[in-house]
Amino acid sequence: ERTKLAKLRRLPAVTTDDEAVELQANMEIPAELPLIAQAGAQGIGLLRTEFLFMNREDLPDEDAHVAAYAPIVEAMAGYPVTIRVLDWGGEKDMEALAAGIEPLHASPNPALGLRGIRMLLKRPELLEAQFAAILRVAGAAPDGVVRVLLPMVTVPAEVKAAREIYERVARRLRRRGEKLPDKLPELGAMIETPGAALAADAIALEADFFAIGTNDLAMYTLAVDRGDAEVSHLYDPLHPAVLRLMQFATEAALRLRMPVSICGEMGGNPRLVPLLLGLGIRCLSMNASAIPRVKQAVRSLDIGDCARFARRVMEQSDPARIRELVDGFASGET
Ligand code: PEP
Ligand code: MG
Repeated sequence: ERTKLAKLRRLPAVTTDDEAVELQANMEIPAELPLIAQAGAQGIGLLRTEFLFMNREDLPDEDAHVAAYAPIVEAMAGYPVTIRVLDWGGEKDMEALAAGIEPLHASPNPALGLRGIRMLLKRPELLEAQFAAILRVAGAAPDGVVRVLLPMVTVPAEVKAAREIYERVARRLRRRGEKLPDKLPELGAMIETPGAALAADAIALEADFFAIGTNDLAMYTLAVDRGDAEVSHLYDPLHPAVLRLMQFATEAALRLRMPVSICGEMGGNPRLVPLLLGLGIRCLSMNASAIPRVKQAVRSLDIGDCARFARRVMEQSDPARIRELVDGFASGET
């Protein structure tokens, strides 16, 4: 079994009817890099950058960001690397983060407070340092390799405001004589709140790509804290509300031929691959360790079957029935 999975590494992630599916890795700490290369990831679909702010007393400066990202981009050898700017707040451990970033205020409800892009737009100096570093790393890499991702977007104006800062930072770097790509790296939005999902058509006008974060999307849609054991039985990414939001956001992107990926835990579950492909998703980013099994699933599927299956699932309104259908498809009954 293990050698079979190892052999998969060299085989392409294509369906039986020859649709290519991009399988990328999520990355949380640099130590994961060897595993990511070994798993045969076709890039990093989500590089979480919170690690850079942990276990230190001061803020990482532009050079510290460059020193962190450059080896990762280099190691991925031409495959895309999607760098998400700091997603601070919410359930992420504020205390573990740099003492150098003073808390803005004690939020009555951190998950609904100053998190992700909201915090960065309040502290643009953090965003500027990170953007500058990403642009410098992109300048040293082949065009199109580096991409930038904004967390916790809920309104198009956040993407617009971030882009203004991004372009201003790029102009400043060029004046300083830094080599930047002619075309700036794509700037994408995480779709991880119900608001963003339902406004995906509007956000798509400002963003270059979408990454659907199903972890937070399920949490915010179902009003269930990811970390609260008392309500964890209600945390269900197969709830029709979550699936409908994913479908809406995916279709908004596909209509504009805009790249869209899934980078929440759902993307690494081989049983969910038929549904995700059926919804039109062709790029999944996951824990590196999940890639071989997901690839195995992709290689066993036909896109037409997946599309028919997804239509059946999307007609259902009972989460238990949806789970039954998903399990049934995975075990070969269609
Ligand atoms: C998500 O919310 O699904 C996601 C990928 O981001 P994170 O898990 O880092 O919040
Ligand atoms: Mg998230």
